[in-house]
Amino acid sequence: MSEAEKPAFDPDALRARYADERRKRLRDDGVNQYFDVVGELAHFGDTDPYADEAFTREPVSEEPDVAIIGGGFSGMLAAARLGAEGVESFRILESGADFGGTWYWNRYPGAQCDTESYLYLPLLEELGYMPKEKYAFADEIFGHSQRIGEQFGLYERTLFQTRVRSLRWDEERARWRVETDRGDEIHARFVITALGTITRPKMPGVPGINDFEGPSFHSSRWDYRVTGGDSTGGMRALADKKVAVIGTGATAIQIVPRVARDAGHVFVFQRTPSTVGLRLNRPTDPEWFASLEPGWQNERRENFAAYADGRRPEVDLVDDSWTAIFRAISSPKGANRPKTREDRNRIVELQDFAKMEELRRRIDETVRDPEVAEALKPWYRVMCKRPTFNDEFLPAFNRNNVTLVDVGASKGIERITRKGVVANGTEYEVDLIVYATGYHVTSDIKLRVGMEIEGRDGVLLHDHWADGIRTLHGFTTRGFPNWFYIGVSQNAFSVNMTSMFDQQARHIAYLIGETRRRGATIVEPSEAGEREWCELIQGLAPSGPGFLADCTPGYYNQEGAASEGNSFLGAYTPGLNAFSRLLEEWREDGELAGLDLNTRS
Ligand code: NDP
Repeated sequence: MSEAEKPAFDPDALRARYADERRKRLRDDGVNQYFDVVGELAHFGDTDPYADEAFTREPVSEEPDVAIIGGGFSGMLAAARLGAEGVESFRILESGADFGGTWYWNRYPGAQCDTESYLYLPLLEELGYMPKEKYAFADEIFGHSQRIGEQFGLYERTLFQTRVRSLRWDEERARWRVETDRGDEIHARFVITALGTITRPKMPGVPGINDFEGPSFHSSRWDYRVTGGDSTGGMRALADKKVAVIGTGATAIQIVPRVARDAGHVFVFQRTPSTVGLRLNRPTDPEWFASLEPGWQNERRENFAAYADGRRPEVDLVDDSWTAIFRAISSPKGANRPKTREDRNRIVELQDFAKMEELRRRIDETVRDPEVAEALKPWYRVMCKRPTFNDEFLPAFNRNNVTLVDVGASKGIERITRKGVVANGTEYEVDLIVYATGYHVTSDIKLRVGMEIEGRDGVLLHDHWADGIRTLHGFTTRGFPNWFYIGVSQNAFSVNMTSMFDQQARHIAYLIGETRRRGATIVEPSEAGEREWCELIQGLAPSGPGFLADCTPGYYNQEGAASEGNSFLGAYTPGLNAFSRLLEEWREDGELAGLDLNTRS
């Protein structure tokens, strides 16, 4: 390596610093450090500040062909794609009072999607809708889900404010019995669970949460009756109030600057700093939008997915902070292609260090107080935690009414009292506590699914998957006939969730359509089909402990416990575009390889 090529940082020093920060943050209780929103904390999850909580309705009794559990984008896409397969008899069950899922619940101030709107918002071409900005805010996204609901006729097919308690397979009738909290009798031939990935709030496992005398809520249940205003701001009720925001993940990054504008004072409790990349939002240019050729959204999504998969198409259509990260950590191509895996890992690690140095420099350039700037710096590899993007979060720490309380060294806040939050041995008295403490994403399947799913012979899904998820293509599992799962296990993962969900929705709709076209009533993976898919996924997993094992703890790596085989993704690592092709070829082949179809009247 020539002098000119030498990095402007000391890789050994960075390696040591990253390992230290990981050690500092590791806790013996790992994923068990969090409280679930049950029992005396149930109100943090059950509350719906956006609905008429006095709503009642008569129970329904019906036998649709398909029950779709969840009215977020994945459930709506499933419904839209079923329609295209000629399946008209379906019922959507949704716990919120409207469509939107994540965007129904997440209306906190500043809520915005980090993925470009032209990629993220589904069915843009079908609906002829032009997003207002490159990155859409929550109210526009929620409005878009309502638009889909109206244009695809989904409102009349949906039972809102209805929570599914259990799904039980009735072998005799070859139907699923869907049990709800409204006493409904629904017997569906097929079920699609479309529950989303970040739905079940988790709370910090500290004592005293219910002792607090003022209002407090999880970020996904923001109560504007307390704060005034709406997701764009104007929270006048906070003018002379002190607010605690716990957490500095992707959610808190968006909340803090908005609350700082309106509140008397904000205390930001940070355990692990996030990376905060550039946002650079801008209005959509109508001329550019009008010039897009049919098929543009899919083309853009594929282009983005190619970057995410480490490829480098000639043109970067999205060209934003996400693709900058993907470029920064992808292995060199062409003549510079590394010869061995070790070379590749070394080069990518150096690129990663350089990217993180750039992000840390941004903090020094933005935050005036050097001590605060230092405390805000993340020390881990860029994809160890979900990157965030915001142009207002770091400058918020230059305001007199914002205090950073770094709780990294003490592994988190200590307790909640009648008056506020105790951290580092100090009690911070506040008027409102906002828990931006995230969701059960990778924890126990029972927690994430939030309902009992009982397949053939009374076998429960979480027992069936106790030693690991087993599926064909990530959508179906043997012993749970006619049940399809839209999610992020054993299939291709994408940060652009909706493009991944749409691919899954199309495939599942095809499977249901094809089962019916072939005159069958039951479909499930064959033993061999499921086994071969699991073997393929395991074969794709990195040998050795893998990248996440050395990462700072978080939900990506089960709070630092990730090792070979237990990462939640269990992913089809060649990526979304390759997975799309695999499914397309599988469908074109027409053999329905790996599935068993049966007929029962
Ligand atoms: P996260 O799980 O990412 O963050 C939770 C935060 O709470 C972390 O900063 C965590 O610290 C902190 N925390 C937890 N327990 C304690 C404790 N005892 N004391 C102090 N701090 C604590 O949740 P988010 O809601 O921020 O984000 C969840 C996911 O939602 C994101 O990863 C992303 O996928 C998605 N999201 C997407 C957006 C988008 O634009 N598309 C926007 C917002 C969220 P630590 O890091 O140390 O664990």
